[in-house]
Amino acid sequence: MSSSVDVLVIGGGVAGIVAAIAARRAGAHVRLAEAGPQWMRGGNTRHARNLRLAHDAPDARMPGAYRAEDLLADMRRVAGGDIDEALAQALACGAGSIGDWLAANGVRFQTPGRGVAPLSHRTAFFLGGGKPAVSALYATAARIGVEIAYDTEVRGLEFEGGRIVSVELAGCGAVERVAPATVIACAGGHQANRSWLREIYGPRADSIVVRGSPHVTGNVLRALIDAGARTAGDPASAHFVAVDGRGPAFDGGIVTRIECIPYGIVVDVTGARFADEGADLRRTHYARWGERLLEAPRAMAFSILDADGLGRAPSSGLAPVQADSLESLAMALGLPPARLVETVSGYNRSLRSQVGAVQGRPLETRPFYGYPLRPGITFTRYGVAVDPAMRVRRADDGVYDNLFAAGMIMAANILPRAYLAGLGVTLGAAFGRMAGEEAARHAFR
Ligand SMILES: Cc1cc2nc3c(=O)[nH]c(=O)nc-3n(C[C@H](O)[C@H](O)[C@H](O)COP(=O)(O)OP(=O)(O)OC[C@H]3O[C@@H](n4cnc5c(N)ncnc54)[C@H](O)[C@@H]3O)c2cc1C
Repeated sequence: MSSSVDVLVIGGGVAGIVAAIAARRAGAHVRLAEAGPQWMRGGNTRHARNLRLAHDAPDARMPGAYRAEDLLADMRRVAGGDIDEALAQALACGAGSIGDWLAANGVRFQTPGRGVAPLSHRTAFFLGGGKPAVSALYATAARIGVEIAYDTEVRGLEFEGGRIVSVELAGCGAVERVAPATVIACAGGHQANRSWLREIYGPRADSIVVRGSPHVTGNVLRALIDAGARTAGDPASAHFVAVDGRGPAFDGGIVTRIECIPYGIVVDVTGARFADEGADLRRTHYARWGERLLEAPRAMAFSILDADGLGRAPSSGLAPVQADSLESLAMALGLPPARLVETVSGYNRSLRSQVGAVQGRPLETRPFYGYPLRPGITFTRYGVAVDPAMRVRRADDGVYDNLFAAGMIMAANILPRAYLAGLGVTLGAAFGRMAGEEAARHAFR
């Protein structure tokens, strides 16, 4: 590694690797520090399948049209007025060109209508998923001369007079201090930081499954806030989905998501139902359930199905627990058997009494099945505020001279409380590109 660095990029998810390529292409000497090992490169972006792109007409990636103004309207709608308008407009504009930029830098997309991904006019799907996409970007970065340091965590940032003067990097048993001309923080949210989650959610945090990388701990975000950066969003706001409680505590990705809830009932640890399973039949119902699970006693619950319900439900990564009777199922799941039987009987009775009911079917066809459920955290909605040039704002007004941010670490400027499918990657890539170009320009100023 050379000692002089124009642009230091912290974090190698989509925002970081795109920022590094953009800065390098603008002529800067770029180093990217990634806390994870090489095989995990790409952070949470490895797990992503699609991204939201603006386009005026059908193209090689998507059918139909989804114009920049449609995307802007969607962002404003889900943000409920709490949105940085200048950034939202820049993102809507960037979402029109970032697909071509990614393709020019090696990313391959699925052709619409050919393959297994759902057909969407709003989102394009990576060919083979997020992992090949980030691998292609890393290959491009290495080829054009970005210095990539894996297993290298940024542990400290030193500020002087409104600018970063030195960064402490720890990796391979050594600690190094660098003094880059500019820094781009792309280290994501704080969802993998169990003690931070405990500060927010209390003991319930121990039930939360982190769906993505264990390295996204928010230590850079914390350092920036401690140094006086202005914050955006709410530390207690996060995107949750219902996941299989038997999956790994970290990095299970999308396969542990549970999508069978509308085909049966959900009971809490006492064996009681606590919400209407048939009220939300959208494919994304698992997100509503993620939040409910967090509020349930001990932040866990159980999806209970009969053979008929399981046969109609989308399949899941792990096979469900199976039993010939509800009593045996309850014992296998650690639920009170008599209470589960009573809950299912009550549910079946209530369905039979609703003449012409269209939702829900009685649970009576053996065998019975159960999935333990936990809230799976996808990302937090808390970060630093940035200006339209992606420079980090200071709490006491103004911006830091040589500090930029892109990706989930600043996503709450746009998405403070809700989410639009595919916007996480779009936001990382489009703002990463802008931050890389701005940081390179600034370094040469
Ligand atoms: C299971 C799952 C599925 C998803 N599916 C989709 C999808 O289909 N479409 C979509 O748009 N979004 C999806 N998302 C969200 C999407 O992955 C994120 O919005 C996006 O990856 C964020 O990119 P990023 O570069 O900002 O952060 P991340 O991808 O989280 O990367 C941050 C990187 O910073 C590194 N890092 C952290 N701290 C340090 C430090 N101190 N020093 C050095 N490096 C550090 C981490 O190791 C990590 O590699 C999904 C997320 C998950 C978990």
